[in-house]
Amino acid sequence: MFEPEAEAMPPEQRAELQLRRLRALIDRLLAAGGVTAGRLAAAGMTGGGDVTLADLPRLPVTVKGDLWDAYPFGMISVPVSDVVAVHGSSGTGGRPTLVAYTRADLALWARMCARALAAAGAHAASIVHNAYGYGLFTGGLGIHQGAVELGATVVPVSGGMTPRQVTLIRDLRPDILACTPSYAIRLGEALASAGLRPGAGLSMRAGLFGAEPWSGQMRARIEELLGLRALDIYGLSEVIGPGVASECLEAADGLHVNEDHFLVEAIDPVTGEPVPDGTAGELVFSTMTRQALPLLRYRTGDIASLRRGSCPCGRTLVKMSKVSGRRDDMLVLRGVNVYPSEVERVLLADPVLCPDYLLVLDERESMPVLIACCEYRTAAARNPPSPGAGPPPPGAESPPSDPGRPPAEPKLAARLRDELGLSVRVRVLPPGTVPRSEVGKAVRVVRWREGPPPIPGLE
Ligand SMILES: [Zn+2]
Repeated sequence: MFEPEAEAMPPEQRAELQLRRLRALIDRLLAAGGVTAGRLAAAGMTGGGDVTLADLPRLPVTVKGDLWDAYPFGMISVPVSDVVAVHGSSGTGGRPTLVAYTRADLALWARMCARALAAAGAHAASIVHNAYGYGLFTGGLGIHQGAVELGATVVPVSGGMTPRQVTLIRDLRPDILACTPSYAIRLGEALASAGLRPGAGLSMRAGLFGAEPWSGQMRARIEELLGLRALDIYGLSEVIGPGVASECLEAADGLHVNEDHFLVEAIDPVTGEPVPDGTAGELVFSTMTRQALPLLRYRTGDIASLRRGSCPCGRTLVKMSKVSGRRDDMLVLRGVNVYPSEVERVLLADPVLCPDYLLVLDERESMPVLIACCEYRTAAARNPPSPGAGPPPPGAESPPSDPGRPPAEPKLAARLRDELGLSVRVRVLPPGTVPRSEVGKAVRVVRWREGPPPIPGLE
């Protein structure tokens, strides 16, 4: 552990620390006089001494719209001269979400990422191949500073230019990989093409994969391809960036939340009421120790469940499950709610399919249809369906004997119906059809409202 006194602190002692820090946060927010101060005052709060941890669910929330309304620096609680860096995300509709950091905020962030790297088994002699994008996005510089804090050697390769990444991995022999899970697959395929496989030239022992929701099936694929332990890391720029929570090598079954700095809740995304531990809800964070942009009860839109208890690694920090989806990405199909990662879990349970997939929501008719587009794995593609057979007629459920339609499609559609209650059309396409992203997050859902199909092979 990078900070064992904090990570393995007895829970009662941590609760006292959290209460002190929460009260200090409320005092700072009230003193700053911004939108949160107004809401606290309207709720009758005159100081941090008015609250206990049990009062948290009744305190006002902060939402992304508050950051947009205050863009660029309206919610900052320190003089602008104390800000040393900004980060952010592109957001939706072109409006960026901008987040500011003081020197102390950057130091805290580095320690949180050092915790995550140490939890993955990294140490001062480690070489960290960091293929997260560097820039406004927090992934690249967050992991970078964490690796420096740990005393490891960081290779700041950033995203993209995959051939160069293959060369660096072959020559520098990193033991730790950090990137998005979709890029880990892309990189693994490129390494395999270059003759670098688990047990044959690959040196990586663990990977920190985040910035996208990903399933346990995806974990198995990445581990098989790269021969490492694939661990999840979670964060968002509004809270600090990566390092809010991360998995430990010992258990790898949920992410320890650094709750001594980021107080976490899970709430019902519709009613806003707390949900019990073990139940999926929207994650809400209070950034108790951030200086430049302290946030009270920030609603992330990310859906996950919380779990308390002991862990073989010795950390006492609460665990969050893998994020199952974004509140905004939830698809509603004939009254059934589903997240793309749930479809992914079912699809990737089939070993003939490759981990790249795209969900096309066909909205050309009044009743939308979900089309799950996936591909044969490269190995399975040695016997692809006959290329001359052409696409089947629209809407036709082809018999398994149809040479133009791989037999996996009806089977996969039935499995999605059985496991998720969803009526989905499945298309298994030739390898390379589903678009890949080398930089940034993978696109998993597209809406097809008019015009040609978003990927070739659909009708
Ligand atoms: Zn653990």
